[in-house]
Amino acid sequence: MSEKKSLLNHTPEELKDLLSAMGEKPFRAAQIYPWLTSCTPFAEMSNLSKELRGKLADQFTEGYPEIETVAISKDGTRKYLLRLADGHLVETVLMEYEYGRTLCISTQVGCPMGCVFCASGLGGLVRNMTAGEMLGEVLRVNADLGPGRNISNIVLMGTGEPLLNYHNVVRFLKMIHDTRSLNIAYRNISLSTCGITPAMLKFAQEGMPITLCLSLHSAIPEKRSRIMPVQQRCDLHDAVAAMKHYAETTGRRTIYEYILLKDFNMGEEDAEALAVLLRGQICHVNLIPMNGSVGDFQGPSKKEVYQFQEKLQRKGISATVRRTLGQDIEGACGQLRARYMGNQE
Ligand code: SF4
Repeated sequence: MSEKKSLLNHTPEELKDLLSAMGEKPFRAAQIYPWLTSCTPFAEMSNLSKELRGKLADQFTEGYPEIETVAISKDGTRKYLLRLADGHLVETVLMEYEYGRTLCISTQVGCPMGCVFCASGLGGLVRNMTAGEMLGEVLRVNADLGPGRNISNIVLMGTGEPLLNYHNVVRFLKMIHDTRSLNIAYRNISLSTCGITPAMLKFAQEGMPITLCLSLHSAIPEKRSRIMPVQQRCDLHDAVAAMKHYAETTGRRTIYEYILLKDFNMGEEDAEALAVLLRGQICHVNLIPMNGSVGDFQGPSKKEVYQFQEKLQRKGISATVRRTLGQDIEGACGQLRARYMGNQE
């Protein structure tokens, strides 16, 4: 018996074709899609005939992930652990800002990149997520929040390297931008990459002017190699050139992410290397103080964070310190999933 496919993995156009192939009128797609975006089961799609609901349930699953657990921080951050149809778990984090609700989604189950400061890479890559599964992360959290409390911003910064799942990520971005789906403006979407240079160059041509972020973390190649194995395959200078190309092609300011590791990447030589690397670019640096300690690395004190920010600003680099949300609920990437899976063993 063949496995049922997820209906959520279809665009509104594909849904029309699919219904036609089932002998149904294509306009039914316009009735079904709003139900899908509110995570409604087939049985409750009340404007469809009982017969059609039965046909859909026989051939498809809706494709929504289930909430395995949710941790809620004192600051309002919610970390969801979602179970996909095949049982795999992914993390999705909801953050509340003055300008709206931002959801940080995962794009792969596990991650192949092996950044030493990140719990998500510990078990390596399990598999790519489909566009429908990424859409399911957004829809499930929207449904959990309830009517009128929708997510306005999406960041692809959770588990996984989005540009190594290129086809599905581009498809997902088109899906959430579609006016018949969530109608999220491209300017409200950010994607973070470790610097997969060929994919960055290709992405600049997609006509989707989202904000592109590069996880840089050191402007000194030898140091970057120690914390990010990707440096050995894709050099940071090539990645920065691709960022420049992206900004010129799309007209969007780019963002560089820089995790602050005490006594490692916060000295005068680090600030100088960063200033030289980014000079003349329309970009911004997000400083992310590491929380606690991982392996040989420790998070800096508040004073050290602001000293490094000042060093950069004196060199003409626009830099802000990212507010760390959800510290009391294992807010860093991959921690909840790693702990949960450890408890299941
Ligand atoms: S920081 Fe991102 S790219 Fe690096 S291992 Fe973690 S999830 Fe993967």
